[in-house]
Amino acid sequence: MTSLSIDDHDRGSAGLTYVYPVVSRRAGGVSVGINLNTNNACNWRCVYCQVPGLVWGDAPRCDLGLLERELRSFLHDLVHGDFLATRVPEGARAWKDIAISGNGEPTSCADFGAVIDLVSKVLDSMGQLGKIPIVLITNGSLVHREPVLTALGRLAQAGGRVWYKLDSATDAGAAALNSNRAGHERARKNLELCARACPTWLQTMVLAREGLEPSSAEQDAYLDLIVELVAKHVPVQGVLLYGPARPSHQPEAAHLSSLPEAWMKAYARAIEVRGLPVQLSL
Ligand code: SF4
Repeated sequence: MTSLSIDDHDRGSAGLTYVYPVVSRRAGGVSVGINLNTNNACNWRCVYCQVPGLVWGDAPRCDLGLLERELRSFLHDLVHGDFLATRVPEGARAWKDIAISGNGEPTSCADFGAVIDLVSKVLDSMGQLGKIPIVLITNGSLVHREPVLTALGRLAQAGGRVWYKLDSATDAGAAALNSNRAGHERARKNLELCARACPTWLQTMVLAREGLEPSSAEQDAYLDLIVELVAKHVPVQGVLLYGPARPSHQPEAAHLSSLPEAWMKAYARAIEVRGLPVQLSL
């Protein structure tokens, strides 16, 4: 096997069905990913999505026995074997988290709650529960479903956290960027449910389309949302603000580009002055 490069998200790099390692800039070391969407299916279609062959739909049922075997075997190699020494660049040889993320929306898996419990059990058996965080990366669209919401409560008890994708605070923006037709109000309500159930960070992508930055109406709506969250004491931890670092696999790819560093820094500052900390990834 070859050495991993930073933010190489090749889900097949370990030759496993569900488990894949990433040397993550976000995590500052090795993030152990769990991909439940082995069918490349998502209930959104973001213009910047990096999943090749993305299709509409839900994740399939999870083979929990296989996931447990893969996770235990991979983590044993990571902690006791030569994985870090042989596959990970110097300076990143530390296990930072387990990320439930992948080629689609993980909470669309009917076994999502059982997966949270399984990952918690495996970490507990290694003496790592509460030390190695479990990070759920989600578009939040299914948080209002009772089994998902109760699983988020158990994720919080296991020392987990949520990265909640919210790129636009307008119906038009959510439809144009994410093909999310449920509307902003649903996203806003689900965000509050999520943040009250489990420590939650907003994860926000900003990009230029046809060379144009987001309209002033889009920017104002997003910044107004931050003001509202702070005023209503919705316990959002902060904003992970990032741009399109890797190429989109969607038809819009050629029309997307990164915004200038100065623009991103100014937008981050505009969020911060409204009361939420920002981690900016350029
Ligand atoms: S929510 Fe994630 S997996 Fe789904 S289309 Fe958007 S970027 Fe891709």
